[in-house]
Amino acid sequence: MMADTLIDGRMLRPYHNNDHLPVIIDREICTGCTLCIHACPQSVLKTVVDNGRIEGVVAVVYNPTLCTGCRQCEDVCPDFCITVMEGR
Ligand code: SF4
Ligand code: SF4
Repeated sequence: MMADTLIDGRMLRPYHNNDHLPVIIDREICTGCTLCIHACPQSVLKTVVDNGRIEGVVAVVYNPTLCTGCRQCEDVCPDFCITVMEGR
């Protein structure tokens, strides 16, 4: 897993070990509700099985090169666990 990263005063804990992800999803907060997966027009995100979750899945970045930085995933997440890195 990627090292925890402090951004805007929040400690984010991404799932993948990739320093260049366009979107960071905090794996500790994500409930696996899948709203972000359906909101993304580029199919960047997907869920993977994680039995520690309420829904049994957690959202991860699957196709990072397709991300346009549109922030629709960040806007739709009810738990504020997505941070789009584009423009930071
Ligand atoms: S910023 Fe836009 S393109 Fe990138 S993952 Fe989020 S919804 Fe998809
Ligand atoms: S919308 Fe938020 S809580 Fe729901 S799966 Fe996506 S990152 Fe997780």
